[in-house]
Amino acid sequence: MGKLTFLKGATLITGTGKAPIENGGLLIDGKTIKKIGRTEEIQINEDIKVVDVSGKTIMPGMINCHVHIIMEPVGNPFDLLIKESHTKTAMRGAANLKKHLKSGVTYFRDMGGYQFIDIELKKCLAEGLIEGPDFLVSGKVLTMTGGHGYPMGRECDGVDEVRKAAREQLKAGADVIKIMATGGVMTPGVEPGSPQLTREEIQVAVEEAHKAGKKTATHAQGTTGIKNAVLAGIDSVEHGIFLDDEVIEMMVERGVYLVPTLVAPYFIIKHGVDGGIPEYAVEKSKRVMESHLESFRKAYRAGVKIAMGTDAGTPFNYHDKSAHELKLMVEAGMTPMDAILSTTKVAAELLGIHDNYGTLEEGKVADFLVLKENPLNNIETLLDVEAVYKNGKLVE
Ligand SMILES: [Zn+2]
Repeated sequence: MGKLTFLKGATLITGTGKAPIENGGLLIDGKTIKKIGRTEEIQINEDIKVVDVSGKTIMPGMINCHVHIIMEPVGNPFDLLIKESHTKTAMRGAANLKKHLKSGVTYFRDMGGYQFIDIELKKCLAEGLIEGPDFLVSGKVLTMTGGHGYPMGRECDGVDEVRKAAREQLKAGADVIKIMATGGVMTPGVEPGSPQLTREEIQVAVEEAHKAGKKTATHAQGTTGIKNAVLAGIDSVEHGIFLDDEVIEMMVERGVYLVPTLVAPYFIIKHGVDGGIPEYAVEKSKRVMESHLESFRKAYRAGVKIAMGTDAGTPFNYHDKSAHELKLMVEAGMTPMDAILSTTKVAAELLGIHDNYGTLEEGKVADFLVLKENPLNNIETLLDVEAVYKNGKLVE
């Protein structure tokens, strides 16, 4: 005995969407949730370690569906990445992992690494060499020659080459294939709205991923590129800046997720050229911000599944500020409960990890947060979490 812990007296938000449990109790056995319910309903004996969290709120750890763990959120992260040594990039990634974990992110999905350092970090975590959230990796992003993200990605053109590029990522250990269907704000000379990889090219990448039992995600900002990706069978649309009614309907019908990353342009505009961000990126972000918010609202109202992701690692988009995205989503009209679901249950479903993660239920992994306030009343409490438990253990 001695390995059981009982947290009692908290308001419990389970992440299932059900009403919170008042005066809730959570019994942890090793890394697993053994019992959850009202404090008085759970029987304990004196060998169990009791932690009184009366007045606090407990919810599942946040899941961030869009991170670049090896990127530093400086004014021009690409520039830094291609100039520094791989050793330094790897060390940076390890440091960033801790930032995510301490800020309450217990699981994330990396959406574009560099030279497979993301995959090596995952191996290090599995061996216990470093500490951090669990995560899925995408390896190198698949982009057309000169396309969005090309300094860090795998440039590929034509169906045969895209197929090969997808297979290369899977061979290297990617859990998800990331595709660039349109331009973006951070690559010079690339229009955010313009389509890039074609529908046929995206389709073969999706086919290879799905054959291997893996999912796909696309960076997609412009409407035509988003449609190309959705028709090609993509599992999630990242950013989704220019969504029209037709593509929203297609996404609802096909169950395609939207990961809005509202904070990415928000921080670029906030810090601007004075923060060392290239002028082209600031200018492009200003042009897209309004459409971005409008697309988010329309998709939300129409019932598109929305999962939380921040694009952490892009300019001033810090690895310890994921909750800022939830704040922006609530400000844009999402209910606090739906915002919480977007970073718990819905995010876990998108990542395909919902059997073990995303909600506080008996038998699932004990990844959870202790919060000073109830985030349903004040979402900003997630910006300053009181305690993080990963695999049933308090993160020190
Ligand atoms: Zn990204």
